[in-house]
Amino acid sequence: MTVSIPFDNSFAALPPAFFSRVTPTPVKHPKLRAFNGPLAQILRITATEAEDMARVFSGNTLPDGADPVAQLYAGHQFGNFNPQLGDGRAILLGEVTGTDGQRRDIQLKGSGPTPYSRMGDGRAWLGPVLREYVVSEAMAAMGVPTTRALAVVETGEPVYREAGALPGAVLTRVAASHLRVGTFQVFAARGQKAQLQRLTDYAIARHYPDAEGPMGLLRAACAAQARLIPQWMAVGFIHGVMNTDNAAISGETIDYGPCAFLDTYDAETVFSSIDRGGRYAYGNQPDIAVWNMAQLASALVGLMPDTDAAIAEATEIVHAMPEMIRSEWTRRFAAKIGIPTPRDGDAALVGDLLERMQSQRADFTNTFRALITGNARDQFTDPTAFDGWEPLWRARLEDENHALATMRAANPAVIPRNHRLEEMIAAAVAGDYGPFERLNAVLAHPFEDLTDARDLASPPAPHEVVAATFCGT
Ligand code: AMP
Ligand code: MG
Repeated sequence: MTVSIPFDNSFAALPPAFFSRVTPTPVKHPKLRAFNGPLAQILRITATEAEDMARVFSGNTLPDGADPVAQLYAGHQFGNFNPQLGDGRAILLGEVTGTDGQRRDIQLKGSGPTPYSRMGDGRAWLGPVLREYVVSEAMAAMGVPTTRALAVVETGEPVYREAGALPGAVLTRVAASHLRVGTFQVFAARGQKAQLQRLTDYAIARHYPDAEGPMGLLRAACAAQARLIPQWMAVGFIHGVMNTDNAAISGETIDYGPCAFLDTYDAETVFSSIDRGGRYAYGNQPDIAVWNMAQLASALVGLMPDTDAAIAEATEIVHAMPEMIRSEWTRRFAAKIGIPTPRDGDAALVGDLLERMQSQRADFTNTFRALITGNARDQFTDPTAFDGWEPLWRARLEDENHALATMRAANPAVIPRNHRLEEMIAAAVAGDYGPFERLNAVLAHPFEDLTDARDLASPPAPHEVVAATFCGT
């Protein structure tokens, strides 16, 4: 075996109430399609032979030290509580500690049914697997906290979705952990206090060793979400399914399903075909993050000896989130217009630009990037809309010495645009991984000026616009 993963598992050492021991279901013809060498290096994973890698990252062969489990969790899906979800098609192989000292989960997604699969087949098809690979790696390159992608293996077996038979694939995903709000909810809903306490202790030790008790954990997890969501907003990211089972305690972006990036700026943008009410629209994401953390608060107060005092404290913690999000949002967006340290009035200056962009349907990414080169007005159908804002901005920048460098580090030149992702998936399904590899290569350096990849920065032509991304994952 030429694949070595230095497992050091802690979750699987918890009591059995937290998971089910499972084994991945072997697939017919595993074929390695992607392997993230730089990430493997951080994880101290060594792998040389593609055939061995295909076996390991499909689940056909268990690497030494793996202790595969499916994790139990519950969750609010679109606001409705589902008392039991769990990893229906994901299997945690174990954990490794990287060269950076950080412990991370190694998880297979699409590796066959588990006791939590309900009616599902436990599988994933190639499209969403490649989408998650490209988007999560692009997010990482942009500095947004996120799970990472280590490998893609095609299974050589079809999976059946609404669209018919599609090529199956397994994604190997890497996360600070897969503990979610829903992991706490399942034990709270069942009144299993001992388990809830054990989980809380585990989460604190793993993620926030300085936090004190359940309220300390809540405070830290809320702060992490309050830092994360403005980073999504600042790169135009729409998660698509911000259910409580998709909200990680670590503050990483997790569970890329029908996610997408804004092309034209419109705060009401929704991509997910299953989000009919617009609950998870771009502009709603801050409110939903607060709502999700309120669910974590509800789960954790039950651990506190004095319920009234705990409710008061938890309420104070959750109610502090909107202001934290606002100030982090202001910091992120001020940087996008060249202001490293915002002061009063800067949020309004940004808001004014965004309103003009929204009314003109200007391209989000390209408008901000063009501020650097001074041709942002070309991004507006009626450039006078920009002319009304520019002098106010220029006047403000007279007080700033590092405006250009600040904007260069805050405004990506390229993002994984939806139409490019769809194109890439269609090519891969036809056997051509060129577009996948090209996207990964370019998106690894999102803040560099584009030379020969300008086409990847172009917004979709009218016929290329992707109106929805599908959850038929
Ligand atoms: P998601 O929308 O991907 O976060 O998934 C929500 C829940 O449905 C989780 O419990 C998943 O494990 C489960 N699930 C999604 N797709 C499948 C599938 N194809 N087979 C089994 N379970 C699935
Ligand atoms: Mg999920």
